[in-house]
This record gives sequence, C-alpha cells and structure tokens, in this order.
Amino acid sequence: MPLVAILAPFDGWCTGIEEVPDPVFSGRMLGDGVAIDPTSGIVLAPCAGEVVTLPATAHAVTIRTPGGADVLVHIGIDTVQLGGRGFAARVKLGQVVGAGQELIRFDLDTVARGAKTLLTPVVVAAADGLTIRNRRAAGTINAGDVLFEFEIVHVRDVAQARDVVHSSEVTHSSDVAHSSEATHAPASLQRTVTVQLRHGLHARPAALLAQAAKALATEVSVLAHGKTANARSVTAVMALGVRHGEEVTFTASGPDAGHAIQQLDAALEAALHMESAAGHDTTADRASAVGSAAVASSAASSAAAAATSGENSGGAVDGVLPGITAVAGFAVGRATRIERREIVVEEQGGGMAHEGAQLAQARANVRARLTRVGATGGVARREIAAAHVEFLDDPVVNEAAQELIAAGKSAGYAWRAATRRQVQALEALGDTRLRERADDLLDVESHVLLALMGEARPIKLTIPDDAVIVAEDLLPSELTALDAARLVAICLGRGGATSHVAILAAAMDVPMLVGLGTGIHAVADGAMVIVDADAGTLHVAPDTSALDAAHAAVAARLKNRSAERAAALADCRSLDGTRIEIFANLGSTADAVAAVANGAEGCGLLRTEFLFIDRDTAPDEREQRDAYQAISTALGARPLVLRLMDVGGDKPLKYLPLPHEENPALGLRGVRTALARPDLLRTQLRAALRVEPFGVVQLLIPMVTDVTEIITVRTVIEELNAELGNGPRIKLGAMIETPAAALNASVLLREVDFLSIGSNDLTQYTLAMDRGHAALAGRTDALHPAVLKLIALTANAGIEAGKTVAVCGGVAADRIAVPVLLGLGIRELSVVPAAIPAIKRQIRAVRIADCRALASRCLELATAAEVRSLVAQASITSGEAP
Ligand code: PEP
Ligand code: MG
Repeated sequence: MPLVAILAPFDGWCTGIEEVPDPVFSGRMLGDGVAIDPTSGIVLAPCAGEVVTLPATAHAVTIRTPGGADVLVHIGIDTVQLGGRGFAARVKLGQVVGAGQELIRFDLDTVARGAKTLLTPVVVAAADGLTIRNRRAAGTINAGDVLFEFEIVHVRDVAQARDVVHSSEVTHSSDVAHSSEATHAPASLQRTVTVQLRHGLHARPAALLAQAAKALATEVSVLAHGKTANARSVTAVMALGVRHGEEVTFTASGPDAGHAIQQLDAALEAALHMESAAGHDTTADRASAVGSAAVASSAASSAAAAATSGENSGGAVDGVLPGITAVAGFAVGRATRIERREIVVEEQGGGMAHEGAQLAQARANVRARLTRVGATGGVARREIAAAHVEFLDDPVVNEAAQELIAAGKSAGYAWRAATRRQVQALEALGDTRLRERADDLLDVESHVLLALMGEARPIKLTIPDDAVIVAEDLLPSELTALDAARLVAICLGRGGATSHVAILAAAMDVPMLVGLGTGIHAVADGAMVIVDADAGTLHVAPDTSALDAAHAAVAARLKNRSAERAAALADCRSLDGTRIEIFANLGSTADAVAAVANGAEGCGLLRTEFLFIDRDTAPDEREQRDAYQAISTALGARPLVLRLMDVGGDKPLKYLPLPHEENPALGLRGVRTALARPDLLRTQLRAALRVEPFGVVQLLIPMVTDVTEIITVRTVIEELNAELGNGPRIKLGAMIETPAAALNASVLLREVDFLSIGSNDLTQYTLAMDRGHAALAGRTDALHPAVLKLIALTANAGIEAGKTVAVCGGVAADRIAVPVLLGLGIRELSVVPAAIPAIKRQIRAVRIADCRALASRCLELATAAEVRSLVAQASITSGEAP
C-alpha cells in the first residue's frame, strides 16, 4: 500500500493529538494524527477524496481517500454547540475534492469565543488498521505542509495493535465528525489492543476491566478468539482465555462510547502497571511470603509439567507419587479422604417472585459473611473474600440465574446451573490459572446453595488427628471448615499452586501438594502416608522404618518450633537491648488463650465489634461485661486494650441499622457512630469499666479525626466512673487511622495516654484505596513511603510527649515492615497471636541503629515496592542472630 500524505488544512501551531482536551481525540478513539491550533480561518482539504461527512453546522469534515481511509478535520472542540455560527461550508457532502481545495471558512474570533478550544484534530482512521509515519513535530506549520503520512495495514500484520487504530463501524458515517459531542454519538466504537500481561486476562485484570465497565452507563464488550464477553462479567472475560500477546477488541456503543473505551484501556494499563510494580504475580508472591515454595524439586517440576498437560495420571512409582509443592513442609499422618457432598436442589421453583427473593436473600447473607471474613481475616482471607464477592455479583451468572428462575426453576437450581456454565467455560481453557478460578466459583456456588437451605456456614468436616487430607480438589470454604488443630497436610489430585485454597493453607502453615493426579485414588482412607512437600512427593506406602524416620523428622521440626514458642514467653529485646513490647490483637476468649501461649504481653487491640457481630439484637451491659471479663481473665493480669465498637463502613452490625451511605468508608464509622448513638456508647463503656480489677482495661477510641471526639468520650467515661464509684482515671488511647489524626498526633497526645496506629485504615485513607478492593490489594500497602511518613510523624510525637505509640494494624506482623517500624521509633507492636514467636525472634536479631538507618532510607523512596525490595536486601530482616 503506498504512503498517503496528509497536508495541513491551515496555518497554525502543530502539536500532539494527546494535547487535545477531549479523551475521544487524545485517546485516539477516532483515529490517529496530530492537532493544530489554527491562525487562519480557511480549511483546505488535507488530501484528495470524497467528502463523506459535512454536518450542517460545518464545524467538521471527513474526506475518504481512494484507499478507503477517512481523514477527519474537527475544527475546535465542543464546536457543535455553536450550531454553525461562524462556519461556512465551501463544498457539499459527496463532492470529490482535490488536496488543498478549500472546504470550510470559519471566523476565528467567533469560534474561539464559543469553543472549549480551537485546537483542531486532524486524524485518520481505516476500517482495517493503519500505521502513521513521518509525523510532524510540534511547531509552526503552514497550510499545505505535510502533517504526516500513513499506510493502511491489515491489522493482523501489526505486531503491536496499540499503535493501530481499529475502527470498523465508526469511520464511514457522519457520526465520526461529531463523536465527541453527545448530540451525534457514534453507533459503536472499537479498539483492538494486544494484551501484554504476563498471564493474559486472568482474574485480576478481568476484575479491573469489570469494575471499569460497571462504572459506565454504556454497554461494553470484549471480543477475542471469535467470542464476545460482557466486559462487566469477570468470569466471562476470563473465559475468553486471552493469553499474553493476544489481541482483544473492546466495543462500546452510545454517547459515551469513546470514554468507555478509554476507561477499558486505562483498566488494562492499570493491570499492566500493577503487574510490573509487583514484579511478579501477587498471588504467588503472597504464598511465598508465608513460607510456601514454588516447585521445590526436579521431581516436582516434572510433575508440574505432567499435571499441566494432564498427563499425571499414573500411579505411584516405588510407593512415591510426585506432585507440585503449593506449601512447603513435611508431615506424616493418616490419609483422610474428603468427598464433596453434592447439595441436592429441587429443579422446579415456587414462582418467579418467590425464587428471585430467595436468591437475593441468600446472596445478601453470603455477601455479609464474606465481608465479615474479609474484615476479620488476614491478607489472604481478605483477598479471597473480595474475589468471592466479585463472583457473587457477577452479572453473567446472575442474569443466567434470573432467566432460569423466570423459566420456572428454583433459585438453587438456577444458581447452580448458571455457575456451572461459567465453570465449564473456564475449565475448557487450557490455562491452569484460570481453571483454578473455577474452584472459586464452585465455592461461591456452595455458599449460596447452603444459604438457600438456611445453613449459615459450610458443613463442618470431622477429621481424625494428624489428618492428611487426600482429595481431588478442595475449596477454600472446605479448608476453613476443617479443624486446623488436627490437620497436618493436604494432598490434591488436581488443584494449583496459586489457588486460593493454597494461599489459605500457606497462611495456616499446612504443607500442601497439588497435581498428584489420579494416583491419589489408590491411597486408602486411613493409611499412613508421608508428605514431603519440600521435595514435592507423597509416600503412599511407607514401611515401618520410613515411618519411624518421618516421625523423627517431624519431632525435630516441632522441637525447633516449640523452642521458638518457649523463647517467645520471655520479654523481647533487640540485639542492642532495646525493649520492644509485643501484644496481641484479639477478637475472642480463644484468641486470648492462644495469645498467652504464644508469649503476648497483653492485648493491644480487642476488636469488640466482632464479639457481637453475628446477632440480631444488641448485647446488654451484663453480656458485654461478661465477655470482656472472660477475655481479661484469660489474659491473667496482662493489660487489655479494649477498643470501643468500630461499627459502620465495612463492619455493619445487623442490630444497628445505619442509614444507607454513598461512601460508607467516609461516613459514620468508628467513634462517629458511637457519638451518633450515645446509648450504645454508654452501655459499652459501663460494661468495660466494670471489668475487674479496675485499671486492667485500657480504652481505645477508633477512627479519630480530631480531639473533640476524644474529649466527648472522656466526659462520658468520667461521668460513668463517678456513677460506678471507680477510683483513678482509666487509661485512654486514640487510634491513628486517618491522615488527619497522624498529622495532628501531637495535639491528640495532650488528651490521651497512648496512641495506636491502625495501619490498615491509615493506608486505606492515605492512599485513597479501599482496603477490601480486590484489584487494588497488591497496592494497598502500608509500606508506601507516604504512610511511613505519617507513622514517623506519629512516633516522633509520642517520643516528644513521652507516651507510647503502638502499631496494631496488619503491618505490625509483616516481617519486612518490622525493622522499618522499629527504625521509625515504634516500641510496641500488636499482632495476631500466632505471629508473636517469629516476630520476637526476628527482633532479637536486629540492632535498632541499623533499623534507624534503614527506615530513614525507606522514607526517601518512591514506592512501597521499592521499600520492600530495599528491606528484603538488607540482611537485618533474616531474624538470625549474626
Ligand atoms: C486498622 O485499621 O489497622 C485496625 C487495626 O483496625 P481494623 O482493622 O479493625 O479496622
Ligand atoms: Mg481500623
């Protein structure tokens, strides 16, 4: 195809198309080209061809070249609103013109006064693709100068479709000229892009696309491999099976089509950015962060290959089945088969309205439970819960279910059938990662079916002591339903190393093998087996001497662990003797018992809202007091920091209906809710102040923004203390969870005895990223230097005031964060009980001076990823004494 030259239609200043203040043009939705700020009002034809668009308003014109490309000159932006004022056409629609022929005259002053800008895009688009060459650099230009040249290319010949504008339906009608103005919207717009994501359109980018699509009024679809998916459906997008390097085409219609396509493009960019910021897959990374290894041996490597290609169907060789290490470790125990119970559902429904309402209620119940799990669990559970909520709300599944209900089916039947369709679509793909997501869909299916049957939780599975779970696969909820104290390992015939159930197993520190193939069917229920998840092998028929050796190896490992636990009972000092206090975050009496066993010096955060979350009525004073007393008693004489109910936002309470909020995270939450409901606040305070011995309980106020909130709460406390005849003042603290509180920490410290940094919320509010947002989970990182600066500010305020500043958010248990926090001046951490031994061990091996130097370098960095990589390289995180 010969090159076609496009000439400047008038004198002016040439600039990049991206400078045009209209996303349709700057995003190249209507074609690629340049923009010109005109200094003359005569528009000449940029090329020879036919005038295919020329609206009555004469503010734009399109010339179709003999080769079929459409060249649009759009005079200024938002100029359609002038209704033709200041414009006069010199040619007619359908007329064939020569290059340089006069097309339109316009009055520069009139148009300049009525337009957003005079900047005029000159762009070219072709039904196929095209490439642009010799684009004019920014600078003055005269009418008739060459702006750029282009050649039409078949889109498949283009390696990087990003450089290709692909517009099929849009370029041939008069709509093109008006596309940025709502009055003349194009029928549809398309954009084809090459997916550069390493894993293609997997769950996270699909979720990002779906979220972007859901925010749009316009219908948007994604086309790949000849299949079209609703962009709002995570599963449908994943089911396209788009891999790295493959093309997808976004299509949008309606007045906002250009904007919609730009949003999808941005979502894909964001996914790419997240991937490169993480440097690798975040999910896999999480797993390795908690000690799981990827494929650990050559045996496992070959098993991995075999499993992926579906070849691992053989039985054990010499009593050994090769698998893939999902969580490293070593265990010996009794094979315990788990067969999944298929929940029986009636096919016929009891009417559309009834079944529809049943399904809506069941989904609402599941959503509430997932939200709770997300709010109370660790990072892994939070991410999984967020992903499951996405699946629960998936429009494709929901629409299919509604159709089936409308056809007379029951809610359960409809939900299962709709889910299974998507599962089949995912399983049909040859992509392990996407197949793993099918398990998540099945998990959500069982949650909903159980909720329809009125069961609040997945069935509890009874397992023997030292159970090695042997199953085809395992759902996250099935794992959490197991008694963790009896579980020693998990062996799955299928499954994936990066599945959510693997992440949970890693968080529980349970060794896990996947991809063991059909050989696991031969493992007898109750047989003794050895799981070497370090080497990636399952020994299915060990003899007595192998079993003895395995038991000895397990005992040695346990001894090490119990040595760590025993050491955890002692006070914690850094290598250079600085005392660091380690407290526990609690939500129940059981947690308190575990905390003491793990060496907690007390409770640094009792999340009281979780004591009473699962009920329909508010607990009265006595019930609350008993619950607090039980926890205090379990802690012995250790201090108990009792946080006043942090209700609202992502922690709704059934018995405390709060008005619907557009933006709950920024609405009635924490102390704001307490002050809005003084009756509840008084009841809770009276209960807390009655715990004996008086003084063991310290009170902590959540979500503080300013000092007036503290003063109001303290006034109530003083009144109640007088009423109860209590003695001296009780210790009162404030949580630092808002940037306002951190920036004003020194002022707050005048009114409180201590501060406790809630890094989870502080991160959410500093980075303006929802802490439960699945797609942002990889970036909602408390090690962002901006968050670290707020922590530093708060810690310094505490040092100056001579008062304690603790950290009780999730970052306190993050081994990469620990030396940084110490370096910033934090001397008290409050973490989940199970994390205490390892944290004490880590702290005992670091010098505060080294931590200080490290922390001050971290404050200078640009991103959380940079902080993580700097700390990871510094030897002081190892936890080993030098
Ligand atoms: C926090 O925000 O870090 C915190 C400890 O509170 P919660 O996680 O309960 O909101
Ligand atoms: Mg919080």
